[in-house]
Amino acid sequence: MPRSRGGKHELANLQVLCAKCNRTKGNKDTTDFRSGSASDRDPACVFCTDKVIDQAVETHGTVFALQDAHPVTPGHHLILPRRHAVDYFAMTDQERHDAQDLLRVLRNRLAERIRLSRASTWA
Ligand SMILES: [Zn+2]
Repeated sequence: MPRSRGGKHELANLQVLCAKCNRTKGNKDTTDFRSGSASDRDPACVFCTDKVIDQAVETHGTVFALQDAHPVTPGHHLILPRRHAVDYFAMTDQERHDAQDLLRVLRNRLAERIRLSRASTWA
């Protein structure tokens, strides 16, 4: 527990994180990195490659967005954590929070595109 939120300055409350893990850890993230795997990527995962991350159309904190290669509907995107997570529930609080923010950014961008395309149709 972060000291800013009442955590004690004692060994039992200590988490020492590498620079990668610490870069997005805030005092609202309850993830206990001491009990889980600290590996960032899964070599067997199709999304855990630099090539995929380089195709991001938008990034926000711990997550990024890709345009779906085979979209079911126009504007369909995938929002993924930079760290490997098997599903939504394996994401940290911070990753879910960042994903929610990015979802709003993408939604607003798509809404603006639709608004502009309708305006040009009617002009
Ligand atoms: Zn992955």
